[in-house]
Amino acid sequence: MNLAIFGATGTIGANTLDVVARHAERYRVFALTANASAEPLAELCRRHRPRFAVLSGVGEDRALKRRFSEFDTELLFGPEALGVVAQHPETQTVMAAIVGAAGLASTLAAVRAGKRVLLANKEALVMAGPLVMRAAKESGAQILPVDSEHNAVFQCFREKDLVRKIVLTASGGPFRAAAPESLSQVTPEEACAHPNWVMGRKISVDSATMMNKGLEVIEARWLFDLAPERIEVLIHPQSVVHALVEYADGSVIAQLSNPDMRVPIANALAYPERVESGAQSLDLASIKTLSFEKPDLVRFPCLGLAYAALRAGGTAPAILNAANEIAVEAFLAGRLAFTGIAGVIADTLAALPAGAAGDLAEVMEADAQARQAARLRVLALAA
Ligand code: NAD
Ligand code: MG
Repeated sequence: MNLAIFGATGTIGANTLDVVARHAERYRVFALTANASAEPLAELCRRHRPRFAVLSGVGEDRALKRRFSEFDTELLFGPEALGVVAQHPETQTVMAAIVGAAGLASTLAAVRAGKRVLLANKEALVMAGPLVMRAAKESGAQILPVDSEHNAVFQCFREKDLVRKIVLTASGGPFRAAAPESLSQVTPEEACAHPNWVMGRKISVDSATMMNKGLEVIEARWLFDLAPERIEVLIHPQSVVHALVEYADGSVIAQLSNPDMRVPIANALAYPERVESGAQSLDLASIKTLSFEKPDLVRFPCLGLAYAALRAGGTAPAILNAANEIAVEAFLAGRLAFTGIAGVIADTLAALPAGAAGDLAEVMEADAQARQAARLRVLALAA
């Protein structure tokens, strides 16, 4: 099977290549993409010898092109090249693992081309869930969730009409038990030091604010076509139970594994079969305790903001997502306090009315306006 990995130099990209390398007879690495990190991408191409590589954030560069030709890889440049790979007739499966709104256009292109799409880029569904799902229906594209909670729901989900609710678990991140007054002082390094998962910096900060779970509630709403009130969140610090599905008869089916992204990645890659992922066997006797608690919406205001944006509908989730990306970027650059993130998002949502999200242009326009409004809020808070 020919696989294109969008965002190959990231943590999901690395985990995907790890699983794929265990099954060279099954998966052919057809294309690898990165934003601007030419050297890490070249190293991956040396090892995996894809037909295409893309540097979507870089303009034509003949010296780089020559360098990649040593691996029999054709290097393409610019964002349009992602569309070329997404639609290429020999591309069968696309791992959508670009981080943030930057992943929406290429994810949608792969869906429209009817590919099998392994979806890690949750922001695409947050911004344009109805558009992406409708496009999948029209093209026949199969979307398989890679986000661990959604992959867990997917594994436990039978008939939608019989489901009472689903529960996504959240670790609570590095500040689950920190004193609330200490949060204004936390550094990017502390926020990115996740207790259970090694992830890119943006999603690590999202996990610390719990915006990650908010984005995941929105993602689940569209993936499983469930009303927001049937999607719950539970804090589960051990990150062993990834999600639970409760049925009308009171039965609850959960999926468990060690917190290792290779598990959902291997599941999505091989579905409906199963392949070895490299993950260790789950040893419940040594873990001993699995605990659960309700999330504290005062400590984690971002979770409430995400539910509110989902209920508001239209472009509100795209505005939420864009404001979050700007706020997280400012926090990582030392221009915004950790506790300022939720405020920037709330103010941006309050400043911009939600409009219709009928097509990609409307969504991207809302995204651009929200970025501008959020940047002004960051500047005002810094002044
Ligand atoms: P990362 O920061 O480690 O990697 C991001 C990748 O996207 C890199 O290859 C980078 O080159 C590329 N990229 C960044 N900006 C880009 C742009 N403007 N245009 C094109 N490419 C760009 O991120 P990650 O942790 O691998 O996460 C990727 C996606 O998967 C995110 O949407 C995240 O929410 C989701 N996800 C990640 C995890 C995890 O464990 N890391 C779990 C669940 C979901
Ligand atoms: Mg997740």
